[in-house]
Amino acid sequence: MGKIYDVIILGAGPGGLAAGLYAGRARLSTLIIEKSQDGGQIAITDSIENYPGQVLEGESGPSLIARMTKQCEKFGCERAADTVKSVELQGDIKTVTCVKETYQAKTVIIATGAYPRPIGCKGEQEFMGKGVSYCATCDANFFEDLEVFVVGGGDAAVEEAMYLTKYARKVTVIHRRNELRAAKSIQERAFKNDKLFFMWDSVVVELDGDEILQKMTVKNVKTGELTTYEADEDDGLFGVFGFIGRVPNSEIFKDTGLEMDAAGYIPTDADMHTNIPGVYAVGDIRVKSLRQVVTAAADGAIAAVQVDKYINGSL
Ligand code: NAP
Repeated sequence: MGKIYDVIILGAGPGGLAAGLYAGRARLSTLIIEKSQDGGQIAITDSIENYPGQVLEGESGPSLIARMTKQCEKFGCERAADTVKSVELQGDIKTVTCVKETYQAKTVIIATGAYPRPIGCKGEQEFMGKGVSYCATCDANFFEDLEVFVVGGGDAAVEEAMYLTKYARKVTVIHRRNELRAAKSIQERAFKNDKLFFMWDSVVVELDGDEILQKMTVKNVKTGELTTYEADEDDGLFGVFGFIGRVPNSEIFKDTGLEMDAAGYIPTDADMHTNIPGVYAVGDIRVKSLRQVVTAAADGAIAAVQVDKYINGSL
């Protein structure tokens, strides 16, 4: 300990990095704490077509994030590669206890985002990394020329299913309803992809195999009919990718006095204030209607400006 920062930012996704950029430009002493790689969920997103200005062919989540990280460095943000264990958010000085060190600041911006929601079927845990994945960019190459199933019907499921068709022989999207939630522009591209198939009104109930994923039972939610799929004998396995939404990373804020909704998202006002003075929340961890890179970045900018006002006494 020792140094008391103006602001500690928890998480280096688009929300946290935008907050870092604005805090750095305001000459606030800023520490960004991130436990793994920068980018949060977009670190594993192959294509970003809806961030303003992101129009260059071949641009990906990681390339956009790399530029955001560089901008934060340029404006003097300090970095800690550490995992937060607990936080004390009340009072004038906030304390963030991590695995390696303990840090203190006058304010905290929470930008810890969310993680993939498990499919919730029998055998899922057992076959994680042995056929079950939540990241196409990370694992698609393991399924070169094999069959792959994608669970979900939102933007992530359909985008990632299309990405998987670059590697897999055949990709089938398993969706619990008979129409997709994904944006129309994404659907249009998906329906034109001749390696992409759809299994409607269906949920995965069980995954099985001998060490690796070889068998899947799917239930038709309308008829109740159960169908079992087995890996092609020559293949020996298939893949199942889950993209059914996110769960907020807010476990560490329980019992800190921070208000959260029933699902663990943090409510804020339009200026990102939480219920605790000097504590702000940005990005996917917030209660909000649209969770996108552009909205996370906007939240981060707003929060940092509010931190500046709080520290410099105009609030
Ligand atoms: P999402 O939009 O919440 O969609 C989740 C999908 O999973 C829905 O189709 C939902 O079905 C299904 N689902 C939820 N729980 C399920 C369960 N227990 N069993 C089976 N299916 C289940 O989540 P997302 O696709 O991860 O996207 C999250 C946010 O990121 C969204 O705001 C999205 O726009 C954004 N995003 C954008 C892009 C892009 O624009 N390129 C890419 C990825 C993500 P129902 O439809 O029946 O509810």
